[in-house]
Amino acid sequence: MSDLTADAVATGRPAAAPAGGNPAAPGGGRTVAGAVPPSLVARLAGGVTATGEPSVVETIAPLTGERLASLPQSTPSDVEVAFQLARRAQSAWAALPVRRRAAVLLRFHDLLLKRQDEVLDLIQAETGKARLHAFEEVLAVAMAARHYGRAAHGYLRDKRHGGALPVLTQAIEARRPKGVIGHISPWNYPLELSVGDALPAFAAGNAVVNKPDTQTALTALWARELLVEAGLPADLWQVVIGDGPVIGPAVVEHADYVSFTGSTRTGRDVAQRAAARLVGASLELGGKNAMLVLADADLDRAAAGAVRACFSSAGQLCISIERLMVHRSVADAFLEKFAERTRNLRLGGGLAYGADMGSLVSARQLDTTTRHVEEAVKAGATVLAGGRARPDLGPFFHEPTILDGVTPDMAVCGEETFGPVVSVYRFDTEDEAVAAANATPYGLNSSVWTRDLRRGRAVAARLRTGTVNVNEAYAAAYGSVASPMGGMGDSGLGRRHGAEGILRFTEAQTIATQRLLPLAPSLGLDDRQFAAVFTGGLRALKALRLK
Ligand code: NAD
Repeated sequence: MSDLTADAVATGRPAAAPAGGNPAAPGGGRTVAGAVPPSLVARLAGGVTATGEPSVVETIAPLTGERLASLPQSTPSDVEVAFQLARRAQSAWAALPVRRRAAVLLRFHDLLLKRQDEVLDLIQAETGKARLHAFEEVLAVAMAARHYGRAAHGYLRDKRHGGALPVLTQAIEARRPKGVIGHISPWNYPLELSVGDALPAFAAGNAVVNKPDTQTALTALWARELLVEAGLPADLWQVVIGDGPVIGPAVVEHADYVSFTGSTRTGRDVAQRAAARLVGASLELGGKNAMLVLADADLDRAAAGAVRACFSSAGQLCISIERLMVHRSVADAFLEKFAERTRNLRLGGGLAYGADMGSLVSARQLDTTTRHVEEAVKAGATVLAGGRARPDLGPFFHEPTILDGVTPDMAVCGEETFGPVVSVYRFDTEDEAVAAANATPYGLNSSVWTRDLRRGRAVAARLRTGTVNVNEAYAAAYGSVASPMGGMGDSGLGRRHGAEGILRFTEAQTIATQRLLPLAPSLGLDDRQFAAVFTGGLRALKALRLK
């Protein structure tokens, strides 16, 4: 943490605004304490599975540094209890027709849109992000609820396949729920990554034990209440809260399948524990995402898109852009537009629309951000916009920052910052840009800007990332919920959204029925004759182009 910020946090006094810094957004007049009163916290905390006399953990509101909530902590034995309760509820839930389960998602969709202001307050209070960025979560969750509410039946219904012998063998592929999903989620998109990812698990007939990050547990607990109001049996979604390294492994220990979103480091640990138990896991991990501005891009649209790409949720977005590659012939013109837009972003912490970017979530995130920027500047990088913490606005604010002249020896070049910082690089040829974009162990998201859509898609095909957005930052791919989203390489395993996003929560079961004749010598054929008949039969099946 910079000295200036540390002083502001320690004294509770806002520091003076630096000259030439980003303007402050109007506050809106509502306070965190007013929007999240103790009665609401107490009601939501009642949804945590924690028995006995649980110890209590405190959270603070990042916007102001004030105390936000006291929450009960679950122990590893509470996690065991949560799995028992969830397991008991799961068999009755799984016995319901898919359409009955999916109807809960559709009712949840409507309730969420109606009551969005409640959760926008909670998301802002717990994360410090701007209200517009909190609304992105409502959007994403509503899209997932609609998609799986409408499409779950099609994804899960029994599928007939050609059997071993045409006509005589009939095969049906059925989908069975895994059972109880261990679902571990981070703080950065607390609504989307708690309930958004749980919806297809429920639609597929599972129960869920969710360990949200403690900092953002209220949002997850609110979503649970709403889903119960929409018709989900209360025991089907258990929430446990506690220190990640303490209760996270307990969640993996009891789960029939693990859905994890978080850092690559923790993801490796989770994967190893799941592998040791031979249970599957999907891992949505970190990124160091690149945006390519080709020579023929519309520079105004690309500059506006770059702002969204780099600074949504103050850069604390796994699919956020941290490496910006611009064709040399347009670099100056593009950077002028991008830097001007970035310098004009209004920073603020009010519980109202109007701010373009909010706060970082914690001292830890601010620390990494300031360290990456300060180290780079000391080693020769140039600041094109931003560059400073803003303790005058709140304890963890940092300006949206553009760095030029970043070299591979600087941490900001290859490590995920997970803050509002982007480094700019210039390229001369498409091959060079593609090679530079792919020169990272991560492979989550990328973005390509060009007026030639065919060329955009051709470049996209060469990028080694799970999603690529042509002429958009990240929302086009993420919002296309019928299509899979996830990471290659160190960015993870498995996918959310689309068929993969729900089928991961199922076991495939093949039921094959044999009629009239066995798949063995019969009708008086000896072994040799049987082999000869079947050899001829196999040749005939291939000639008939049967699959
Ligand atoms: P993190 O790995 O520290 O924590 C994520 C979750 O795991 C938290 O709930 C935490 O309490 C829990 N946890 C911690 N240690 C654990 C352990 N040993 N076993 C089991 N669970 C444990 O990540 P973070 O810093 O909170 O989140 C930010 C990271 O998440 C970034 O790297 C970001 O890129 C990534 N992320 C990825 C996606 C995606 O979809 N790919 C989405 C959001 C965030």
